[in-house]
Amino acid sequence: MKGKLFKENIILLIILIFLIIIFFFLLFVRPKLLIIYNNQEVNSINIELNESFKNPTYKIKYLNKNISSKVKVNGSVNTSKVGSYELTYSTRIFIYKLENKVVVNVIDKIPPVITLNGNTESNACSSNSYIEEGYNAIDNYDGDITSQVTIENNINERIYKVKDSSNNETKVTRKINITDNEGPSIKLKGEENVYILLNDTYKESGYIIEDNCDSEITNIKIDNKVDTTKVGVYTITYTATDSSNNQSSVKRYVYVYNPKTSQNMTGSEKGVIYLTFDDGPSTYTTKILDTLKKYDIKATFFVTSSGSDSAIKREFEEGHTVALHTSTHNYSKVYASVESYFKDLETVQNRVKKITNETPTIIRFPGGSSNTVSKFNKGIMTILTNEVLEKGYHYFDWNVSVEDAGGCTKKKTTSEKENCVYNYFVKGISKSKMNVVLMHDVKSYTASKLDDMIKYALSKGYTFDKITMDTTQIHHKVNN
Ligand code: ZN
Repeated sequence: MKGKLFKENIILLIILIFLIIIFFFLLFVRPKLLIIYNNQEVNSINIELNESFKNPTYKIKYLNKNISSKVKVNGSVNTSKVGSYELTYSTRIFIYKLENKVVVNVIDKIPPVITLNGNTESNACSSNSYIEEGYNAIDNYDGDITSQVTIENNINERIYKVKDSSNNETKVTRKINITDNEGPSIKLKGEENVYILLNDTYKESGYIIEDNCDSEITNIKIDNKVDTTKVGVYTITYTATDSSNNQSSVKRYVYVYNPKTSQNMTGSEKGVIYLTFDDGPSTYTTKILDTLKKYDIKATFFVTSSGSDSAIKREFEEGHTVALHTSTHNYSKVYASVESYFKDLETVQNRVKKITNETPTIIRFPGGSSNTVSKFNKGIMTILTNEVLEKGYHYFDWNVSVEDAGGCTKKKTTSEKENCVYNYFVKGISKSKMNVVLMHDVKSYTASKLDDMIKYALSKGYTFDKITMDTTQIHHKVNN
């Protein structure tokens, strides 16, 4: 009995062991689902952006033998978009449920392209002072990434760097040659053309010097040959040199002038300008007086009954000649008769006498002694021109006209009128004669252009004077 029971138990044990072996066999010796790409078993694949791609194939192995079965693939890969994509392969064999995965990484390996504007080699005082000529960065995947470019400044170069979203980096270098070939810039303070009276003092108004490389320029030379005791045009040359020996220079012109007549000094009226202003005073007389004062020039005003007394007072007090033109400037009244001419003249004479306490005897006929506007009264100018001289007056016509009451009034714009007046002045004056210049202080453009006319004459060495009873009279040919 005992032996039989033992035998049965042995058999049971063997069966049990056998079952356990089968169990473990089934558990561990499973079929395998392999993913195959380029003949290799894979679970991750890297492909480049836009590269052509086909899903990997697969094999099912069981005990080293291939088994065929239908496999389902889940997932897809977008090769035009950087990223990681998962493909899941699954199937069912016997009791087994098989699954395997592969990760497909779509990667961008192409770095961005940086393009530099300008030259890849430039000159500058330092790489810091180099004025950037511009650049751009374009990536195959990210597009324009110019804004992400960083610049590294080294002593002799600038390095432009940028990374795309896949961390591909590009570096471009611009070479900077440290040189300075630009001279300092000199800016003059004050006027480029300076007018100073004879024997006055020249005051240097200074300059501003800047350099592209040097923070300070100390090598400055001023060549000043101004001699204020002698009439003439002098040049002052300012020369600045930077540390790289670049030189630049600017000039200032100094006009030393003597507005006083040469009459007393040389006994000649040649080249003397007698500025005469008719028909005033007016609102423009002040500006004319200011300009004359600026250059210490004396002139002659042939006044009327218009305008303010204060303007006549100022003319007188500032040393100009206040002379007589006419009270009314009304030709038909003035030239109606000898009596009415003198009545008109006396009216304006009395006005001036009241203001200045002096009785002017220097006169100018309305329209000049050569006028034909008086022809309605035949011979009146012949009579008057003789009679005024007999009464002790000196009458002055002119031999230069700026046409400010003539041709220039037809110009349209103010600046055209100004230029017109200026051109008549420049063309009319001459060194070989005394110049009695007809102007009108009732014209705004004469007042505004007077400064330029004076500057021109001074630069050409003319002198100015007022008319006095000693001045040679300029008479026109009488036409009536
Ligand atoms: Zn007049």
